Amino acid sequence: MSWEVMQTKTGPCACGAGTETYVLEMDDWNRTRSATQIHCPGCRKKREQELAADQRREDRRDELLRRAQELAMERYSVQWLSLFAGMTKKAAWQRYTDGVGHPALGTFYQHIKHAGGLSKHLEWCLTSDLERCLRVLEINDAEIAELLKERAQLWKPTSGSM
Ligand SMILES: [Zn+2]
Repeated sequence: MSWEVMQTKTGPCACGAGTETYVLEMDDWNRTRSATQIHCPGCRKKREQELAADQRREDRRDELLRRAQELAMERYSVQWLSLFAGMTKKAAWQRYTDGVGHPALGTFYQHIKHAGGLSKHLEWCLTSDLERCLRVLEINDAEIAELLKERAQLWKPTSGSM
């Protein structure tokens, strides 16, 4: 697998004191990738700081989600599992999806098989699709909601590579 440079374009950098070069490459499978090389100490530093800030924000988002998931497991896992106690897989799916139909029934079955049982899969659901599970449970947990809200507010597209 080799990348071949298809196009390079050099122009002034953002501050105008130096230059930056846009490079477009393509591989044997016609996939493309592009990057911008910054040849200006000032702009380069600014870019590194932006990337570091992105990383800090992502770390914080992960931390907030982890905390919300921990709280949900501590507080609601028993209640969550008892909601589905004695149900067939299909009835559990109906309850979980609430008529929305996502995931599809077949996918839900596959997930159960993969997880090694309905309750194991449902435990996974509680953390991986926390907001939906709380809706199904009709629980309004202010502390969890606050964590998820803060996480959502921190979302922004990352600044891209290089
Ligand atoms: Zn510059």
